[in-house]
Amino acid sequence: MPSRRIFLAGAASLSLSALLPRLAISQGRKPTRVILLGTKGGPRIGASGRSSPSTLILVNDVPYVVDCGYGTSRQLLAAGVPLNQLRYVFITHHHSDHNIEYGPMFYNAWITGLPIQVDAYGPVGLRRMTEDFFSYLKFDIETRIPDEGRQDPRKLILVHEFNRPGVVMQNDNVRVSSFLVRHPPIRQSYAYRFDAKDRSVVISGDTAYVPELAEFAKGADVLVHEVMYLPGVEALVKRLPNAKRLREHLMTAHTLPEDVGRIAERAGVKTLVLSHFVPGDDPSITDEQWSEGVRKHFKGPIIVGKDLMEI
Ligand SMILES: [Zn+2]
Ligand SMILES: [Zn+2]
Repeated sequence: MPSRRIFLAGAASLSLSALLPRLAISQGRKPTRVILLGTKGGPRIGASGRSSPSTLILVNDVPYVVDCGYGTSRQLLAAGVPLNQLRYVFITHHHSDHNIEYGPMFYNAWITGLPIQVDAYGPVGLRRMTEDFFSYLKFDIETRIPDEGRQDPRKLILVHEFNRPGVVMQNDNVRVSSFLVRHPPIRQSYAYRFDAKDRSVVISGDTAYVPELAEFAKGADVLVHEVMYLPGVEALVKRLPNAKRLREHLMTAHTLPEDVGRIAERAGVKTLVLSHFVPGDDPSITDEQWSEGVRKHFKGPIIVGKDLMEI
C-alpha cells in the first residue's frame, strides 16, 4: 500500500506540474499580448544589438507573427513560443528585413513537428515567394519526407495574397484589417490592425508620414509605429558610399518622430510604441532622443521599444 500511495501522489504532482506552465503563461495576463521580437529597421545584421523586424501578437495564447526579419525563429523561442505552435503569419511588405525569414521560420516550425496548418497573409508576391522557397529547399524537403516519415510541408501552408486594403482575416478571437501605407518605391506596403475582444493593436509597417493612418489607428489601445531619427541618419550615411541615394530613400520612405507624434495624437491611441528604429544600430541615440520629437505632439505614454519587450 505505501508504494501505491507514493505512486498516486507522484501521479498527482505530475499532472499538476504538467498544468502549471500553461497556467503560468495565462495567469494575470491580458488575453491579447504584444511582444516586440525585433526592433531594428533595415536589412544589415550586426554582431550585437537589436534584432530585425518582427512583432508577435498573442491572442488567447495563439501566435500571430507580423513580419519575419532575420532571426525571427530564435526570437519566437526567446519569447516562449514553441515553433510548432506557429499558426498565423502576416507580411507588411516585401523588403527583406520583413520577409527574409518567412520561409525558414515555416521550415523550422515544420521540422519541429508542425501540428496544424499555417495561414500566411501578405501583399502580392507572397505566393511566388513561398513556392520559390520550397524550390530552394526541394532536395532537403523531398529527402526528409520519405526518409523521416514527415508530412509534405507544401500542403501545410495556405497563402492568402491581397493587393488592396480591407479585412484580411477574421476568426472568433480577432479581426485583422490592412491599410495601404506609403513606402516608395514599394507600392504594396501595409499597416495591420488587430481588433481582439479586449484590445486593439495597430502595426504601422514601414511608411512615410501618411496622415490618414491616424483614421485607421483611431482609438487603438496600442500603436506600434516605425521611426527614423534624422541626426542618426545623417551620421549613418556619412560613412557609406551610397550616401546620397540612401538618404533620399530613407527620407521618402520612413517617418520622423514629430510625424509619429502627430499620427498618435490624431488617432488618440492609448499607448504608442516606437519600433523599427532607423538607424537601429547606433547605440549613441538615447531613448530620450528617440521620443523627444514625438512628445511635442503626443501627450500619452510613449514606449521606446526593445527586443522581447511585452506591451
Ligand atoms: Zn523595414
Ligand atoms: Zn521597408
